[in-house]
Amino acid sequence: MLPVQQAETLILNLVLPFNPHHDAEAVKLLDAVGRVLAEPVTGQLDFPHWDNSAMDGYAVRYEDVRSPSDGQPVTLDIVEEIPAGYQPQKSIQPGQAARIFTGAVMPAGADTVVIQEDTERQGDRVTILSTPNPQAFVRHQGAFYKAGTPLLQPGIKLQAAEIAVLAAAQCAQVRVFRRPRVAILSTGDELVGIDQPLQPGQIVDSNRYALAALVAEAGCEPVLMDVVPDQLEALRTAISQAIAAADMVLSSGGVSVGDYDYVDEILADLGATIHIRSVAVKPGKPLTVATIRRQEAGDEGVGEWMSGRVREIPSTPSPLYPSTSVSSPLPLSPISLYFGLPGNPVSAMVTFWRFVLPAIRKLSGVREPWHPAFVSAIARQELRSDGKRESYLWGRLELVNGQYEFELAGGSHSSGNLINLAGTNGLAVVPLGETAIARGELVQVMFTLI
Ligand code: AMP
Ligand code: MG
Repeated sequence: MLPVQQAETLILNLVLPFNPHHDAEAVKLLDAVGRVLAEPVTGQLDFPHWDNSAMDGYAVRYEDVRSPSDGQPVTLDIVEEIPAGYQPQKSIQPGQAARIFTGAVMPAGADTVVIQEDTERQGDRVTILSTPNPQAFVRHQGAFYKAGTPLLQPGIKLQAAEIAVLAAAQCAQVRVFRRPRVAILSTGDELVGIDQPLQPGQIVDSNRYALAALVAEAGCEPVLMDVVPDQLEALRTAISQAIAAADMVLSSGGVSVGDYDYVDEILADLGATIHIRSVAVKPGKPLTVATIRRQEAGDEGVGEWMSGRVREIPSTPSPLYPSTSVSSPLPLSPISLYFGLPGNPVSAMVTFWRFVLPAIRKLSGVREPWHPAFVSAIARQELRSDGKRESYLWGRLELVNGQYEFELAGGSHSSGNLINLAGTNGLAVVPLGETAIARGELVQVMFTLI
């Protein structure tokens, strides 16, 4: 059993990040939301584009208003009105001002804006009631960004702020990394789909949905395979197909030491290198991590995959669930990373958050850090473990007066109980060798919201 930290490091070392030349594509700006930037962006425009006013008021010469010799407020002639979007026509001379609005271009000659609240207007004259600071409320051209200098670096996830920056720089298209394709495979004779009647002894295959949702939230394209029975040949075919169809494969079930747990055997048969078989983590001890060169998996899978062995998640227009039919035409990574996750529903999700997600981040071209985010929180209940494995207990992180608190989910913390996982947002960690964290003590909690 490998300690968690060592397993994480080993997994990250197996991942080859996407290559900006082979694994990137140009997309329209709004199609880039949630994608990872693949190349540096340099803007051609200064930001702000021109000296402009930050407020509604009057553009003046600071010289004119700074210290009235007679102590009386200064009154200036208004020579022009400059709304946003117009080029000023006049240059401000001594004793003059221009009416100006937020975002409007500063007229030549003026260097300071007096906000309208500090003025009194009489016809085409304005009296300055309070002395402004020099250059007050002027946003200078290039003060925020100078054209030709680096604007955005590759490896950042494009969210609203980055999309806004790219829009301001008039980047209608951006080069982003393709979405990693992740095949999801459930194994087990007992599994039925969500639309099939349940017979005695059967259970519903929830892992496929859990993993598809996690993979989509992580910005990948889920490739859903049919449920595979616990039969060596069927599983072997399905695993080959999955490897042929995706950059990464997540199977769940069949990796423990039961008589029907064939995954490791098949991977070895297919020429994969198995790097990890079990990790000292609870839930999630049986965890297989392997790499396989795609060609060695054989071509047998691809044809069948194309002919409908792979089922898509019901198609919705949401970018969270990109349909496999809109797959990027770019070739897959030469080495496929295989995660054989445990079958228990909570174990499958915990091992995804702890081990698969950092690997996805690195593969996607996201720059470091790839590891999960942990925060210190006060445990509201005692947190127990058997001390033999690093234990993850699910619950809710809440911020109370600037301090995180951790509320343990009520009910059973069995790895088969996925019901009380709903509504949680964190996993509290009881380290290896420790049997309890007392109520009121600090505990490290891993965020599970992606
Ligand atoms: P296994 O790792 O195959 O021994 O499975 C461990 C437990 O997880 C068993 O109780 C399985 O029935 C359950 N399980 C396996 N696969 C799934 C799945 N896809 N969805 C829900 N539960 C599963
Ligand atoms: Mg099984």
